[in-house]
Amino acid sequence: MLQYTHSGSCVTPNSLVLAKMLSHNRVLLLSGRNTIQALQNAAFSTSYKFNKSYQLVVVGGGAGGCATAAKFSSKLGKGKVAVIEPADVHYYQPMWTLVGGGMKKFENSGKPMSKVLPKNAEWIKQRVVSFDPNNNKVMTEDGQEISYEYLVVALGIQLNYDQIKGLPDAFETPGVCSNYSPLYVKKTWESLKNFSEGNAVFSFPATPIKCAGAPQKIMYISDDYLRKHGKRDKASIIYNTSLPVIFGVKKYADALWQVVKERGITVNLRHNLIEVKPESKEAVFQNLDKPEELKTIKYKMLHVTPPMGAPDPLRSCGSLVDSAGFLNVNKNTLQHVDYSNVFGIGDCTNVPTSKTAAAVAGQCGVLRKNLSLTMAGKSPVHHYDGYTSCPLVTGYSKCILAEFDMNGNPLETFPINQAKERRTMFHLKKDMMPDMYWLGMLNGYWEGPKYMRKLLHLGFK
Ligand code: FAD
Repeated sequence: MLQYTHSGSCVTPNSLVLAKMLSHNRVLLLSGRNTIQALQNAAFSTSYKFNKSYQLVVVGGGAGGCATAAKFSSKLGKGKVAVIEPADVHYYQPMWTLVGGGMKKFENSGKPMSKVLPKNAEWIKQRVVSFDPNNNKVMTEDGQEISYEYLVVALGIQLNYDQIKGLPDAFETPGVCSNYSPLYVKKTWESLKNFSEGNAVFSFPATPIKCAGAPQKIMYISDDYLRKHGKRDKASIIYNTSLPVIFGVKKYADALWQVVKERGITVNLRHNLIEVKPESKEAVFQNLDKPEELKTIKYKMLHVTPPMGAPDPLRSCGSLVDSAGFLNVNKNTLQHVDYSNVFGIGDCTNVPTSKTAAAVAGQCGVLRKNLSLTMAGKSPVHHYDGYTSCPLVTGYSKCILAEFDMNGNPLETFPINQAKERRTMFHLKKDMMPDMYWLGMLNGYWEGPKYMRKLLHLGFK
């Protein structure tokens, strides 16, 4: 149970003890390749050190955390920045859409965390369990208290598969898959290859999610795959989404309605997956407009996009979060609304834009400038424009490159109609974006296409 020491401090002594036991057991359970990776990482990380203090602590070493740490560890120098991150592997998650469609190998979507975190930053290989913003501390699973002058929260968004009855167990059964997790993404490709006939069903949950286009990208890829392999006539492709629209930005939604019409895909709006019954191969959906109405659909393939929410350790710290549990930041400056030495980046914040790595890139430059100003005793003045992007892959050689702001207005880089399916955009997504991520963004160099957009629109956008 949570114990609040005083307003703003959310400390969990019992969970710390439990966590120590769990991390001990986890070490015992490690095997084979994981053990070698864990030992390599142990040599690089500093999780054995206790109660340290840093000028900047970054919580989470994913897209936003890694990019931020790269910027500030080179600016502030060795030993000044710590990244608290428990994972052995850093994944480029946008690649999982292509992994699910058999276009990329899963192994190519990840790199050892020790290789991507900046060498000038200290890696504390631990899970943060609670925050104490009044005393400028975070607590880790093994009982460390890490003090900071400045904190950047970059925890991402939490996957909650267990909020759907029958999951995650049903992933052990044929045809149930999900591109959203490293545990289940390979199963998508397997399910697609094994599909012979029947319903291929794709879901979108009734919560905020990361990359809101990904639940339907894999559907278009599946459609294309089945056509190429002569199985499309025997398949019914069904997209059941909790949303009242196919996509949040009208320009791209219009284009996508055209695609589903041309390809004979069934779209049911306001339908939320609530149960998977693997024995009978049935998926149960609730009609969100008439909650008493449940619809059961037989599936041969079921691609699940899980409900998602704010990470538990963050959600438990009432003074840091909004009513939904996301980090409460000023949507323009990315500074916390109450704690001026706390900033946020990426999926864990309540910035009202679509949660993507592209948005993280756009936020990186703003965070870099505003945190630097704050460190110099000045007020943050730089504003994030809400830029986000979703390369809507619609097959094995086509993509609609959606780019828009936090008000749902298109904010396109190229002076062409980006709502059109194009091969060039497909190759941008498949062949160029991975390097932009690994080499540019994670090293703190890529801050989004703002200047390229201005140049290509002759300064008018
Ligand atoms: P993440 O990159 O998820 O990083 C969060 C980090 O926090 C992780 O490393 C995690 O281990 C760590 N963490 C979690 N809990 C703790 C804890 N308690 N203590 C310490 N650390 C913790 N984006 C695009 O721009 N384009 C796309 O085409 C695209 N497609 C996608 C397709 C799929 C299938 C998926 C899953 C995502 C896609 N995204 C896409 C979204 C993109 O990957 C995320 O929006 C982006 O990674 C968010 O960055 P982040 O730093 O906020 O979170």
